[in-house]
Amino acid sequence: MSDILYVVSGLLIGLAFQGGLFLFAIPFALVSLVLAWLNRPSLTAAKNPTATVPILRATRTTDATAVGRILRPAMTQTDPIISTRDMVSANSTEDESSLAKLKGKEIWEKLDQELSLIYRPVLSALRALLPKSHSVVFFFRNVEGHFFSIRQFSSAGENEINDDPTFYIPDGAGIIGQLANRDVSRILEGDLPNGKSLGYYKSVPQIHSVAAVPCYHAEKQCVGALVVDSLETNAFNSSIISILESFASMFFMLTRKSCLSALNFIEKNKYYELAKYQQNFFKSNLLKDTYKEIFEYVNQNFISDRMMILVYDHPESEEGTVAFCRGEDEKVFEGMRFSFSDKGIFQLAMNSHVMMERSLHGREYVYRLKEGEPRNHALQYLFVQPSSMTMRNVVKNEPSEFAICLERREDVKLEQVEKDLLRFMVNIAYFAYQRGSQVEREQFEIYHDALTGLLNRRTIDERIVELNKVHQEKDVGVMMMDIDHFKHINDTYGHQAGDTILKGIASRIASVADKDDNLLARYGGEEFFVSIPGATQEILTGTAEKIREAVASAPFDIHQGAPIAVTVSIGCYLATREFHGEMKRAVSYADAALYNAKETGRNRVVEYQERTFATDKAKENLEGTSDVHNS
Ligand code: GH3
Ligand code: MG
Ligand code: MG
Repeated sequence: MSDILYVVSGLLIGLAFQGGLFLFAIPFALVSLVLAWLNRPSLTAAKNPTATVPILRATRTTDATAVGRILRPAMTQTDPIISTRDMVSANSTEDESSLAKLKGKEIWEKLDQELSLIYRPVLSALRALLPKSHSVVFFFRNVEGHFFSIRQFSSAGENEINDDPTFYIPDGAGIIGQLANRDVSRILEGDLPNGKSLGYYKSVPQIHSVAAVPCYHAEKQCVGALVVDSLETNAFNSSIISILESFASMFFMLTRKSCLSALNFIEKNKYYELAKYQQNFFKSNLLKDTYKEIFEYVNQNFISDRMMILVYDHPESEEGTVAFCRGEDEKVFEGMRFSFSDKGIFQLAMNSHVMMERSLHGREYVYRLKEGEPRNHALQYLFVQPSSMTMRNVVKNEPSEFAICLERREDVKLEQVEKDLLRFMVNIAYFAYQRGSQVEREQFEIYHDALTGLLNRRTIDERIVELNKVHQEKDVGVMMMDIDHFKHINDTYGHQAGDTILKGIASRIASVADKDDNLLARYGGEEFFVSIPGATQEILTGTAEKIREAVASAPFDIHQGAPIAVTVSIGCYLATREFHGEMKRAVSYADAALYNAKETGRNRVVEYQERTFATDKAKENLEGTSDVHNS
């Protein structure tokens, strides 16, 4: 189809050139050309869509002084999304980083590929109309007002005059400068003195005629120029100006279209990059690795001075956690728990399931999560994108389970394309989070007791082997405890009340002993185990005493009935250097001490000592077996 139209347009142009009589053919020829171009074989289909244009960044020069970026130093002064004007200016600004120049060049290459395809037939047609022309140059004006030659055709072929298609015309210089500065609508010079005023040649050929027209934007702004020159004198007359004007507006339209298409390609490529990168989110089963990969992606593609990942991980208490934080005050924020009834803007976004952004420049501080957080007034822009609303969110009236927050020192908003990409990314990251937390839940269930959340018996039996190794380097304290008269409690208040008390006791044990490398376990029905590597006699008995006290000091308030007083008996043993047995044996000693505590009145801590128990029946029993005593 396009071939036929090219032939038709060629014929019409030829016809037009047979004489002034057929000048009517020119508009038809132009229309045919445009139709031919629009019907050309698909550009993207012909090219490998996975090809080379990377994620692009244009220079944002105001950014040069920004500090404290969480980003890699090489990228700190760049803006991930490029606009049409940046695209042209990326080739012009002299003080920009070489990186930005490189990126600009890549966009340019993409644009250039398209322009080559589009301009060639149009330029050929124009040259056919103007056989005396030496070269045809199309200039495009950038945002700073400078002109670049975009494509030129000379009698010897394309790009012969300046091989750099972004050849820069100094302000006001030459014929292009005159067009732009004097706001003239055309220039037609019959006799140019040795082409001195042309200003767009590197080496000046003997140009004797030139004709030029500006192209206008909708708001009557000069955005470019089309210039034809000739080595002959008086090569162009005023009748060609209208031809030039038609061609100029077509060049401008085609160039704009190509710019948009190049940008479009780059945007699409960002999604392609994300599609490729997202597999890293799922690489590891550990959530902390997933968070790092998410951060890595965000950091590569978006400018921020603080990035947070928020998760809604405590639905029972309607609380969430800052699962990950990099940048300003990261140490304070990472791991921070926050309530969804607090008045932070981040919760607000998660509660309403929609993106939120704020420009804080010169305004009052906006709470991110809660009142007590460190107020960082340097951060002037914030953006939070929660995961999209799910059916579960609707049914349970719950907030989004996942969100990513970006904050900037500069009050520079994310661009719409960036926001779209982030929304897309957050939902992929949310899947990775869901899968990771599911795996972590399952792992937790394998190693922990479902009722109390402490380690289970099987885990302790496994970990005790590790404690043997630990014992080679330091003393290890172990304790066994058992609730006093628990059967009676069950019988009096019911099994459920008993369960609640079990949970309560576990959390009191944890409040005292859950630190460092200590292991805490529900060892049996209503028995608990604690090991303290590196303990001394004082630490061991001191901790045991604190646990006993923590249980005995406050009765358990259940069903708002009369509070139930509960006590525990505890047996301890410190495996010092003198102890040469297996840790299993140490546990059985602690168990023997527990037996003694029960014998001697309950609600007590008893430490196992060789001498004390030398004649003890319990010890005699224990010496005969290596199994841990099991009540
Ligand atoms: P002692 O002071 O001698 O330890 O007296 P005790 O009544 O606590 O005696 P024992 O330790 O033998 O009692 C174990 C009781 O713990 C029996 C059982 O009903 C109760 N029990 C064990 N596991 C659970 C449980 O998961 N939930 C509840 N509610 N009770 C449990
Ligand atoms: Mg018991
Ligand atoms: Mg008991």
